[in-house]
This record gives sequence, C-alpha cells and structure tokens, in this order.
Amino acid sequence: MELYEKMGYELRELMDKKEVSAREVTESFLARTDAVEGKLGSFLTLLPEEALKTADAVDKKAAAGEKLSPLAGLPIAIKDCICTKDVRTTCASKILENFIPPYDATVVLRMKEQGMPIIGKTNLDEFAMGSSCENSAYQKTHNPYDLSRVPGGSSGGSAAAVAAAQVPFSVGSDTGGSIRQPACLTGIVGLKPSYGSVSRYGLVAFGSSLDQVGPFARCVKDNAMLFDAIAGPDAMDATSARINRTPIAPNLKVGVKGLKIGLPKEFFGEGIDPEVRALIMAAAEEYRKMGAELLEVDLPFAEYALPTYYIVSSAEASSNLARFDGVKYGYRSPNFEDLNDLYFKSRSEGFGPEVRRRIMLGTYVLSSGYYDAYYKRAQLMREKLKQVYNAALDRCDVLLTPTSPTVAFKLGEKESDPLSMYLSDICTVSINMVELPALVVPCGMVNGLPMGMQLIGRKYAEETLYNVAYTFEQTTGLGWVCPTL
Ligand code: GLN
Repeated sequence: MELYEKMGYELRELMDKKEVSAREVTESFLARTDAVEGKLGSFLTLLPEEALKTADAVDKKAAAGEKLSPLAGLPIAIKDCICTKDVRTTCASKILENFIPPYDATVVLRMKEQGMPIIGKTNLDEFAMGSSCENSAYQKTHNPYDLSRVPGGSSGGSAAAVAAAQVPFSVGSDTGGSIRQPACLTGIVGLKPSYGSVSRYGLVAFGSSLDQVGPFARCVKDNAMLFDAIAGPDAMDATSARINRTPIAPNLKVGVKGLKIGLPKEFFGEGIDPEVRALIMAAAEEYRKMGAELLEVDLPFAEYALPTYYIVSSAEASSNLARFDGVKYGYRSPNFEDLNDLYFKSRSEGFGPEVRRRIMLGTYVLSSGYYDAYYKRAQLMREKLKQVYNAALDRCDVLLTPTSPTVAFKLGEKESDPLSMYLSDICTVSINMVELPALVVPCGMVNGLPMGMQLIGRKYAEETLYNVAYTFEQTTGLGWVCPTL
C-alpha cells in the first residue's frame, strides 16, 4: 500500500513511531498529484517546494524531540477563494487572475500553526457560484471515479483532490452546498459547519450570511481532526461564535442507541432519483438496526427554500462583488473612456456569465421598486424556515436526508441550463439559510458512482454529527475507496 492511500490519522501514527518522515508523506502525495493531475485538473496553483519546506521543518522539530500538533506534516489543499499570503488567489475568475493577497485567512493561519504542508490552491466555480466546477474561468475538474463526469461544485477541486488521494485533507467553502454536494459526488466526508463555527476572515465573500469554510477528508476521524484545528472563535470575524470546544476527533464514539433520527418527507419526494432515495432509506434502516429511533418529520415551506436561497445569496453577492471595479485591485480593462466606462468594461470582461447573472439578479431584487416584493419576502421566509427546522430538531437529535438528487452528472450536461443546475442544490441550500451544521458521509454506490447522505444537526452540535457518522462508517465499513486513475 502506498503512503498516499493511508488515512491522515494513520500517517500521523507512522510519523509518531518514526517509521516515516513528514517529507516522505508529502513526497508521496506530490508524486500521486504529478501522476493524476493531468486527468483531473483539481489544482489552479501547485506549491511543491513550499510544501516540502514545511515538511522538513516538521521533521526537524520531531528530531529535536518537540511535541508536534495533531496535523503536523499532513498535506492540505485550499480552495482558491481563500486568501493565502503571497500566493495567487483567483476565485477561478479572470477578474482576480493576478491577485496576490497580502495576508492569510484565519483558517490558513491555523493550518500553518499545525505545520500542514500546503500543496496547492484548488479549482472552483467562479466565486463559488455553481454546482459542477464548470464555471471556472480556467479549467474543468473531472470526477476521479468517472472522468466524463463532474466532481460537483463549487468546491469541486478540493473534493476531487481528496477523493483521488492527491492530498489527505482540503478545505472548501459552502454557501448553499458547495462542500456537501461535491463530497457526496466524490464519495468523501465533508462538513458545512454551523454558521459561526469557523472563521470567515480571509474567505472571499459570496453570501456573507450563508458562507462557511469547512473540511474535506476521506474518513470521519480525519475530517473531525481538521475541524478541531480550524474551528473556534476569531477576533477578526465578528460573526464567529465565541465557543471553546474540546477536540472532537480523539473522543469519537460508536453508538446511536435511543438517538432520534428524523426523516423529513419533503426530501424524499419528487425530483430525487429513486435509487438515491433507496440508498438513503437503507442507511436509515442501518441506524434503526443499531438502536436508533426513526421519525417521519414535516418541514413545511421546504419548497420555498431554493427560490429564497437564490434571492438572498444573489443579493448579498451583488453587494459583495461591487468591490471588484477595476480600480482597487484585480483586472482592469485596457481600453476605457471615463470612470464609468472603466467600471463597466472591467466588470463585463472580468466576470464570467454565471457571476454576471447573479449580480444582475441580486441588484434587481434589492432595487427600491422590487425590494419588498423579493428581498424582504425572502428574508421573512428565511425566518420561517429557521422556525421549521428548529421545531423538527426539537423532536429529533439529527435529520437524515439525501445530499444530491442524483449521482455525478456528465460534464456539459447542465452547463447551458442554469435552472437545472440550481435544482441540483435542492437538498443543501436550506441548511445555510437556517445556519445549522450538516455532515455528508459516503453511504454506498449507485450505478458504480459514489453517493453520500446528509446528517443535519442542532446549531453548534457538530460533535453529535461526527459521532453519528462515525458510528455508520465503523459499523457498515462503507467509505472511501481509492480510485484507479
Ligand atoms: N451551487 C450553489 C450556488 O451556486 C451553492 C454554491 C456554494 O455553496 N458556494 O449558489
């Protein structure tokens, strides 16, 4: 077995026993990346030398007998909408083609404190808008289990990189499903933390009231280890929750006896592929056999979640993206007549079609004549949804649902039809609006392609989600399988 096939926690044990060095671990993942990157296109920027430097520093510390952090020497990849000091951060947009941030995002600082070698920056849909990674201005990323299919999006590069064992860890961002849907379609574990659990400082904003950074890994324990490292209060983010947690990964428990698992019937109806539905129901049945209690729950108004999400997220995006105007930073059109023309041309040439579509939609719903009809109503609906979800979670400990209505679709299949692309978010968007945590874990295959289920918990109850997912993983033996590429 190659080193890159081992889980992060296993590599940690080998390093602690001095059987392998951080350099050997990093080299193994770099060699794997070299071998498969041409087929996958997970990365926009690779940083092999910097990664090896970090690995060497970890080995030096180990040789000196210093105590190492739990993730020291374990490589990671970062979605390219998260700022990295002195390393290009493009958001997969032409408008930020040459943007080099002068500072690190808080999550990046925390990885560096751990001593994690950063292998590179990963591909995404431009400004995290999309569900397939096809909206990148630079390249398309392929699904490691079928190269003719998408890896999901928008964090498709981060998901593909982990699923293909180019790295044991990565981070993505999730505004309406961008961590969970790609984790589901590539058969790995992905967490959308509760709003406020992880600092957003240094994440390029899409919908500020919805965005969260979160971890990807190949098993529940690894994922929890990364969450432990990046979560927690941050003075640089006023919306970060002032909660000091005890680490989850070292205390994972198997057992769901007496746990109440809610199955919201709105998530199992029309539009969900019958084979996906059957797989999620089979997972629920597994939990029942382990001693959990299954409850059917109602989530009234769930059908309004998707339109509400696209109003709220586009409104916030139109305001957040106003800063890219060709003046302060980023792309500037070479030919313009006056200041207005400079704004107009820089933005028209710098943003891709999906981003322009969202800016137009967002500006429209915020305009004085339509504000009450769209934006205000969407905000009211968001409040209603919060009540509905909290009521369901008063009755249940967790909710279990599908993550994506289908397995990974073909590249190009939905590219020219934005509405059908938006529909692929039907199971994920509401969770961001109600600020709850949701964890996606692999639960089997449909037609030879990976599929994951979504566990939704009470606010800040990430630990419960990890334990429930860990129980499933340990009991069923289902999980990540290294793709042959
Ligand atoms: N696919 C959704 C969208 O396009 C979600 C994106 C995200 O979570 N960043 O808005």
